[in-house]
Amino acid sequence: MKDIVLLGPPGSGKGTQADSLVQKFGLKKISTGDLIRDHIIRNTPLGLQVKKVVDAGSLVSDELIGALFEDALRNASNGYIADGFPRTLPQAMQLTTLIEKLSLPKPKVFFLDLDLSVLVKRILGRKSCPTCGRGYNTFFSPPRIEGKCDDDETVLVQRSDDNEEVIRTRYLVFKNEIEPILNYYGEELVAINASQDPKVIFDQISKELL
Ligand code: AMP
Repeated sequence: MKDIVLLGPPGSGKGTQADSLVQKFGLKKISTGDLIRDHIIRNTPLGLQVKKVVDAGSLVSDELIGALFEDALRNASNGYIADGFPRTLPQAMQLTTLIEKLSLPKPKVFFLDLDLSVLVKRILGRKSCPTCGRGYNTFFSPPRIEGKCDDDETVLVQRSDDNEEVIRTRYLVFKNEIEPILNYYGEELVAINASQDPKVIFDQISKELL
């Protein structure tokens, strides 16, 4: 099984695909967004330092993110799926240096490509259960009872950076950074149309991993 890197704008389905890949292949998901949010929720010094940046839709520094990612990667002995890292060219280079340092093979890199109009709708519909972590989307995969988790009926919550203004900023940040990353991976990269059904995308990714 190959290690996997998922690139793509916010709302392109990286998290959903990563969760399915975890279930099927037993890899460890490393989501730098989840790691950062965990620090923010726990009010750690790092969380307090980055909260404003994350809420504004900007990027946390390459040094901080790189250190978080490295820690998580060192604990991923059965392979990993990187979700949300790398997001800048220096991060892509950090990843290459890191996998060489840890004597890991080159990962398989996927780019989930999606237009701004589709992703705004997707992200605005995104909700999750604060108790069990289950994710929903009011447009694509709504809960049985509006606003409540199917499993434990907890009231669903929205991420504080999932509002239209911040989504547009996050998309612009993504657009500014992605081109050099795509060039860096060049032919190695597999581009996927992320407006398709998540199951179709999952099949396309799985076939590439054979
Ligand atoms: P995500 O859940 O991947 O959309 O990430 C949420 C937020 O966490 C982003 O808008 C950034 O502020 C921060 N973040 C996550 N991953 C990175 C990264 N690789 N580099 C810089 N900032 C990041």
